[in-house]
Amino acid sequence: MSDASPPSDVNGIIHWQRTAAQAPDCTMLNGDITADFVVVGGGLTGTRTALGLAEQGASVVVLEAKHIGFGASGRSGGQCNPIWRATPDDLAQKLGEATASRLVETTLSCADDLFDDIRKYNIDCDAEQNGWVQTAHCGSAQKDLERLGTAWNNVGGQIKLLDRSATERATGSSEYGFSLFHPKGGLVQPLSLTHGFARTAAKFGAQLYDNSPVISLVRNGNSWTATTPTGSATAPQIILTTNAYSDNLWPGLKETFFPLVSVALATAPLTDNLQKSVLPNAVTISDTRRAIYFGRYDRDRRLIFGCVGSDDDATTLGASWRLRRGLLKVFPQLENTEIEATWAGRIAVTPEMMPHLHEPESGILAGLGFSGRGIAMTSVMARTLVKKALGASDHTLPFQVSSINRIPLHWAAKKLIPLAAPAMAVRDTMDTILRRS
Ligand SMILES: Cc1cc2nc3c(=O)[nH]c(=O)nc-3n(C[C@H](O)[C@H](O)[C@H](O)COP(=O)(O)OP(=O)(O)OC[C@H]3O[C@@H](n4cnc5c(N)ncnc54)[C@H](O)[C@@H]3O)c2cc1C
Repeated sequence: MSDASPPSDVNGIIHWQRTAAQAPDCTMLNGDITADFVVVGGGLTGTRTALGLAEQGASVVVLEAKHIGFGASGRSGGQCNPIWRATPDDLAQKLGEATASRLVETTLSCADDLFDDIRKYNIDCDAEQNGWVQTAHCGSAQKDLERLGTAWNNVGGQIKLLDRSATERATGSSEYGFSLFHPKGGLVQPLSLTHGFARTAAKFGAQLYDNSPVISLVRNGNSWTATTPTGSATAPQIILTTNAYSDNLWPGLKETFFPLVSVALATAPLTDNLQKSVLPNAVTISDTRRAIYFGRYDRDRRLIFGCVGSDDDATTLGASWRLRRGLLKVFPQLENTEIEATWAGRIAVTPEMMPHLHEPESGILAGLGFSGRGIAMTSVMARTLVKKALGASDHTLPFQVSSINRIPLHWAAKKLIPLAAPAMAVRDTMDTILRRS
């Protein structure tokens, strides 16, 4: 196996920007405006929330610091992984029976809901619903996956348990001894999906502003004013969807999760022969490693492959070396395949690996913390934010509404994040040696 890293001139190219569907028309906010709702952040959560609110006839303003899809949504692996890491019983223990049963119901339909949305709003995002293979990297991970798959099947999931040879047939990789096949899973071009949600929101009347970072939020009687360097937007309800790119805008928000980094690469389009042996039915794959390996095709049959990184730079602390090593471990047949791009993005990981819906004060909502499962789950959160913002009672929502609880000693843990990826990779390797499947 070659240890060569990708050539340095491909680093920092976000592949999705090369194949994205048309971006929405945006301008910088200039002057003072009012609306029913101000959404801060123009990723999948923010744009899908704006779409939902505008479709109901509300006036909505989206304020994005950089450009629509700048954050994780424009850098994502784009895999629709429609399940949590917790079983329905775990969720019931954590959230109580009633909330958990609403969340389970929403989860079971979340993949179909996403692909239905894409059809309904005619979003051009290279979507394919060919299924997701969730592979076990060691024997104890296999036991965990068996438990997870069986538990979700008991409440109506349609997950298939695949042994070693079925896993190899499904993925084209001999790396794994067991997997779950989720037939509802699939893939999207994540930046195109974000553009599509934003363009649809604009069609329903939402006003989209880019290069408009919100630098303060101030209460004004029953309203809040979101101020940017060049203007302000005032509304009774502000919705924060800034996820792992959250800054100091709302006190404590960025201390509710760990901003881990994920890195990804795009190969050159694979030859027809390689396509027969790598993810033969264009399924997606992700495994149970702590430094998770994930892979999928893009529309031109480039393989997109990713793992956990260390910093916003895809080269830092050997991230690109780990990427290349992971790619060849899972698909050694790609030894001589060119790599066209590598990039990095931030994911917001909460202690319990589940998203949070916060209401720190009346008139402020925040939905974030997708812990690497955002493609379908941002839509679940967005629909919930829409319901809540339009007045639904907390007892009808699939997420608990909470105030902001900072993670104790967050500052100390955050300092260790650059070391987390190498440490996770070492533990993963130990797993495969000591706990073989
Ligand atoms: C490399 C990578 C691979 C991934 N792969 C997958 C996958 O295969 N499947 C999956 O389900 N999930 C995956 N994820 C996670 C998923 O992409 C995210 O959960 C999801 O995109 C989060 O969307 P969001 O809208 O909540 O946040 P983001 O897309 O991060 O958007 C937040 C936005 O807020 C803006 N912002 C921040 N502060 C301000 C401010 N003060 N004012 C205005 N705007 C502000 C930012 O500029 C940013 O655009 C991946 C993530 C990464 C990085």
